[in-house]
Amino acid sequence: MTNDEVIKAYEETHSLLKGHFRLSSGRHSDRYLQSALVLQYPWVAEKLCAALAELVKPLNPQTIVSPALGGLIVGQELARALKVKAIFTERNKETDEMELRRGFQVEKGEKIFAVEDIITTGKSVKESIEVVRGLGAEVVGVGCLIDRSGGTSHFDVPVKALSSLKVESWEEKDCPLCKQGSPVTKPGSRAKF
Ligand SMILES: [Zn+2]
Repeated sequence: MTNDEVIKAYEETHSLLKGHFRLSSGRHSDRYLQSALVLQYPWVAEKLCAALAELVKPLNPQTIVSPALGGLIVGQELARALKVKAIFTERNKETDEMELRRGFQVEKGEKIFAVEDIITTGKSVKESIEVVRGLGAEVVGVGCLIDRSGGTSHFDVPVKALSSLKVESWEEKDCPLCKQGSPVTKPGSRAKF
């Protein structure tokens, strides 16, 4: 799939919105990405992840790891396309640390590829990588459907992004849309605030 085809799949499913948004970080942006909306169509999720699988295949992973919740569907579909295992890390609500739970096992030297739907800072997927490395796995790469970091997320393993999209965001005081008097909306709701 080309970059444009991936972005089109997001746009057609209203997963990439244009407007004036207040993101969960508090920053303002003219675009908002919500992968859950494109991934609610399993046949689209399958197609996107099969395309990503073509990029990942040469790395020969035995297992895919992804951070819950955002990475779950992509991890599952990528693993399906590659016919390997899919495991996930989740955040311990008390310690705020990522953990491998539910009896998932990692062998020493197991080749693992880490995946996330969107990479912005890559924080969650980096934590997943550290968890499986801590158990002796060899992390062979990291990937995503859309890299919106603009090349600013740094990994010490190969990065396989199906597409990239630079999404700008600003502090409220610097937001050009606020300066134009455009009302800001919270993604996922129609309420203005
Ligand atoms: Zn604004």
